[in-house]
Amino acid sequence: MDFAYDDQNIFAKILRGEIPNDTVFENDHALAFRDIQPQAPVHVLVIPKGPYVSMDHFARDASAEEQAGFFAAVAAVCDSEGVEDGFRAISNTRAHGVQEVPHFHLHILGGRPMGRMLS
Ligand code: IMP
Repeated sequence: MDFAYDDQNIFAKILRGEIPNDTVFENDHALAFRDIQPQAPVHVLVIPKGPYVSMDHFARDASAEEQAGFFAAVAAVCDSEGVEDGFRAISNTRAHGVQEVPHFHLHILGGRPMGRMLS
């Protein structure tokens, strides 16, 4: 997969309103919406509104304001989704991370025990 930013990716289309989504939270810099194929009772994707392919690009290149807006959205999702008992946050990144959509997104998974992932 080419990891240059492609504004035809499905999350860019969601941000432009070209594809519907089940929005959980939105602010000036981020959108949170339910994953279309949920892997847990809570499965929300948080994405920045800027054109960042992956987490390392976002961490390196996004402004402090964009980063604050993104994490404000993460906090809002955690507050509204009832994950006080815990959750798992995952960002699949490029080929080795098996990233399918080349627009940075953080999966927030919860609502049940997630099991051990690393040993
Ligand atoms: P990843 O890139 O491997 O992290 O996976 C992309 C995620 O986006 C998958 O969990 C998909 O189910 C999800 N996804 C793909 N298209 C849509 C959509 O249109 N709405 C919501 N979630 C989507």
